[in-house]
Amino acid sequence: MAMPYSEPLVPRAPGEREIPEPPRRGEPGGEPCGLCGGAAVSAVWQDDLWTLHPPVGGSLPGTVWVASREHFDSFADMPPAYAADFGRMVGRVERAILAQGNVGRVHLYRWGDGGAHFHVWFIPRPLGMLDARWMYLPIWEDVLPNVPDADLEAAAKKVAAALDA
Ligand SMILES: [Zn+2]
Repeated sequence: MAMPYSEPLVPRAPGEREIPEPPRRGEPGGEPCGLCGGAAVSAVWQDDLWTLHPPVGGSLPGTVWVASREHFDSFADMPPAYAADFGRMVGRVERAILAQGNVGRVHLYRWGDGGAHFHVWFIPRPLGMLDARWMYLPIWEDVLPNVPDADLEAAAKKVAAALDA
């Protein structure tokens, strides 16, 4: 694995801690929840619990994010029905992305630092792109040139179609 930057990178200290942290979208004091407010990009697939979305601005077609239909933050406050279904859903989405081909591995990320409405990211590591293994994949995803949003949406629709196959 390797960073998408030329060496040498210079280590630096983190900035001053900001406590309390600024509110995220969808929590008290923050901007309204984009998902509950309907402002988020339209889902290309949904079932009783989950919605599946293409990214906006991205470099790796086949990347999708899955959100809960109900507003909760994380695994710590996840309603039982979602907790019971999460593994099934993740396996299903992973298989659908792998079925697109040319994928080395599907990475699953849950950050939650931007919005307080539960969502996870599925990012396919291109087959053979060993530089992008482990935590380097989202950094490469950020640095590689973006592809048109229409291409990201078309790829997400193919993943959605594979979910129902
Ligand atoms: Zn919400």
